[in-house]
Amino acid sequence: MGTMAARLAVSRWVAARAAARRGPLVSCRRWSGVATDTVYDVVVSGGGLVGAAMACALGYDVHFCDKKILLLEVGPKKVLEKLPETYSNRVSSISPGSATLLSSFGAWDHICNMRYRAFRRMQVWDACSEALIVFDKDNLDDMGYIVENDVIMHALTKQLEAVSDRVTVLYRSKAVGYTWPYSFPMADSSPWVQITLGDGSTLQTKLLIGADGHNSGVRQAAGIQNVSWNYDQSAVVATLHLSEATENNVAWQRFLPSGPIALLPLSDTLSSLVWSTSHEHAAELVSMDEEKFVDAINSAFWSDVNHTDFIDSAGTMLHYAIAFLKPTKVSARQLPPSVARVDAKSRALFPLGLGHAAEYVRPRLALIGDAAHRVHPLAGQGVNMGFGDISSLVHHLSTAAFNGKDLGSMSHLTGYETDRQRHNTALLAATDVLKRLYSTSATPLVLLRTWGLQATNAVSPLKEQIMAFASK
Ligand SMILES: Cc1cc2nc3c(=O)[nH]c(=O)nc-3n(C[C@H](O)[C@H](O)[C@H](O)COP(=O)(O)OP(=O)(O)OC[C@H]3O[C@@H](n4cnc5c(N)ncnc54)[C@H](O)[C@@H]3O)c2cc1C
Repeated sequence: MGTMAARLAVSRWVAARAAARRGPLVSCRRWSGVATDTVYDVVVSGGGLVGAAMACALGYDVHFCDKKILLLEVGPKKVLEKLPETYSNRVSSISPGSATLLSSFGAWDHICNMRYRAFRRMQVWDACSEALIVFDKDNLDDMGYIVENDVIMHALTKQLEAVSDRVTVLYRSKAVGYTWPYSFPMADSSPWVQITLGDGSTLQTKLLIGADGHNSGVRQAAGIQNVSWNYDQSAVVATLHLSEATENNVAWQRFLPSGPIALLPLSDTLSSLVWSTSHEHAAELVSMDEEKFVDAINSAFWSDVNHTDFIDSAGTMLHYAIAFLKPTKVSARQLPPSVARVDAKSRALFPLGLGHAAEYVRPRLALIGDAAHRVHPLAGQGVNMGFGDISSLVHHLSTAAFNGKDLGSMSHLTGYETDRQRHNTALLAATDVLKRLYSTSATPLVLLRTWGLQATNAVSPLKEQIMAFASK
């Protein structure tokens, strides 16, 4: 059995290498525009970070060299003529797994040539007690990377330009309607999904990939149920200048009763803020004067105003018990850097919510990224989940293409759905529970989470499992 599988893998690899050397089996056509009712193999609707990366991944897949791929994006093309000196206020924490995906089609090289910041340690702690958890790697491997969204988008756009003979990108093009094929095709009906664009033109595709964000029109047109709710919080983002230059390779997050505040490293002297708090407080934070804003951040990280003697004593008791039972090292607390000022005009706020599509696939349809799941930013996982969707979907589609199967068939689309729903529902549930558990200063819950966090911090295998899950 093992030998057979190995043989199959080798023969596939040899065939793929030969195909790559030979070039496309069927000549790859260049498409300069959309003719009415052009039939594409795959159309990706929505060219945000996830949709653009999906189109890239397919464009560089050796089994897709004879396929016609189209990316539709309602917004303009986003390339950076020159790297701006000022950092953007929209950044993402990119996991090693996501970096591997971006490397697989050359986008990570662009990012490395522009700018990003690796972090090697993550410290998460409670504002209501001394409890904390520290994630770090003994071998000094990177835990993740903070990258500006504009830089990722630039890298993806450059890589899409390089495969423009396989992937057509239509910017400023809005998909306004989707028509699904009949389950039982009639003589004159099309077997493909028909897409109508804002200018009235139409096109068809064998597989539609919905990557059009959390308000996905694709998901709505398909009538797929979406479990969703808005949180009572908005996230305030800003670019911050630290009081002094440091190694700045730690991602910090403190859970305040009003919501988590995170400081993500950008350079020796700059960090990015993501502060989730009530809508009213968020509005206040973005409009208050800069000095007051900086004071509010420093106090959010340093103040012990939410501590109580009872919780502190209970936490200390468990701390001593752990030290007695496990005299080996438990990661030590570090102090976060203090903030000196905020970049002018870098403050912005984003309302937060959770969403999860009941189905990720239907015949001739797959949902990816925020169109399939929307998550609170406290775990820094939204775009990473989307990139994980891409790795899985491309794997299933590439196998189908290699075997000459219909790309829109449920036989491989369900494989994608099973893989990803398993991972994504676990993450969504864990994030939602954390958000709720920490949005209170009620003593029993504070005690529960204090002991839970201290115990988790002391159990290395558990921490390693959490790190392995988050780094996918
Ligand atoms: C404050 C904040 C901080 C975050 N931090 C992190 C982090 O550190 N790490 C992380 O992994 N995630 C993070 N996230 C989440 C992450 O930003 C999102 O998960 C990710 O951007 C979703 O990408 P997407 O491409 O799926 O959707 P979107 O970014 O919403 O893109 C959808 C695209 O589809 C286009 N579109 C929509 N409708 C149509 C149409 N009809 N026709 C054509 N085009 C259309 C839109 O123009 C858009 O470009 C954060 C989110 C927030 C709010």
